[in-house]
Amino acid sequence: MPEVASEFAFELCVCQWAEREWTPRRADSAVVVARQLGTKYRRWDTVVLECDPDGLRRRAAFGPDAFDSDLLYVLEHAPAEWTFYRDALPDPGYPWRYVRDAIHTAADRDAIETRKRGNRIEVRRRYAYPDWVRRVVAIENKPDLTASAARDLAGQIERDVALGLADEVWVATAETGERVEPILLADLPAAAGVLTVDPTTGTAETVWEPRSLDTDAPGTRIIERPTDDASAARFEYADPQWKAEKRGAIAERAYERGWRAYASTMRPDCRHFELRADETGLVPSCAAKARVPTQSECRGSCPEYEPEPPAWRAKGWPIDGGPGKGIKRLLDRRRRRTRPGLPEE
Ligand code: SF4
Repeated sequence: MPEVASEFAFELCVCQWAEREWTPRRADSAVVVARQLGTKYRRWDTVVLECDPDGLRRRAAFGPDAFDSDLLYVLEHAPAEWTFYRDALPDPGYPWRYVRDAIHTAADRDAIETRKRGNRIEVRRRYAYPDWVRRVVAIENKPDLTASAARDLAGQIERDVALGLADEVWVATAETGERVEPILLADLPAAAGVLTVDPTTGTAETVWEPRSLDTDAPGTRIIERPTDDASAARFEYADPQWKAEKRGAIAERAYERGWRAYASTMRPDCRHFELRADETGLVPSCAAKARVPTQSECRGSCPEYEPEPPAWRAKGWPIDGGPGKGIKRLLDRRRRRTRPGLPEE
């Protein structure tokens, strides 16, 4: 079995593979990959968006930053002609003052136009917000499948399938080379797909196909599932509108963050930080530890942290601001490549 350095390294490997090799349901879909996104109830390790290519390009008109669900509500209903906002937007089900806040924020970001007519705020869209996401795919990464990890995983995946927020749910685990992959013996719901990944080559293989979940139907949030037979499980209903709003907000955050945002929490300004190119793609690496550092160890509190020598940031260095800044710019450029229509930084 190939050695798995850490969950973080494995997660990056899955993201690289998905960006390179993911086969969308509709062949003409564009693919956007992100990591560590979800709702307050559940965070997915890897998120793959299968996008309408024209819609994805039109989404770029709104800039690289995400819109939350309050702003999306305004953008999705903003009219083509000047209209009093209460006539243009459907009743939000919460006080209109929050809508006014969202309108001002959207206008500050040049996403819509506003004007005052007497006491009334009128709104007009600058661009139609496109329907750019066709499918949302969630992947849970479990490189090392111990018996207790398998038990926890089965419960999590069961919850994901019952809620049906993603169109597909997958588990990715490290390939073991055994005749029957241990993941197939874990008690996972049959609706979840299974990928085995070879982290040394950055390749993956589907060993179990998932079933598409009905994201337009009401979902079930499993709050508590007791292990004894005496107590009752607790469920909560998730209505389709809640699901649609969450999917929209997750897609927006995926658009903004992608999966290379690790550079903003790690220390690329440390003299030991490198981006190493291998067959799996570009991976962060620590020269002092001779491996991919985890996000929790690659911080200012790392005992081996050493700032870039000032000379690296001076004239002799070809990238303005030193290697640390250069690494962030490089990762940002890679992210923008999968978001056509965004200007180069
Ligand atoms: S020495 Fe510490 S801070 Fe520097 S790159 Fe390695 S893990 Fe990160």
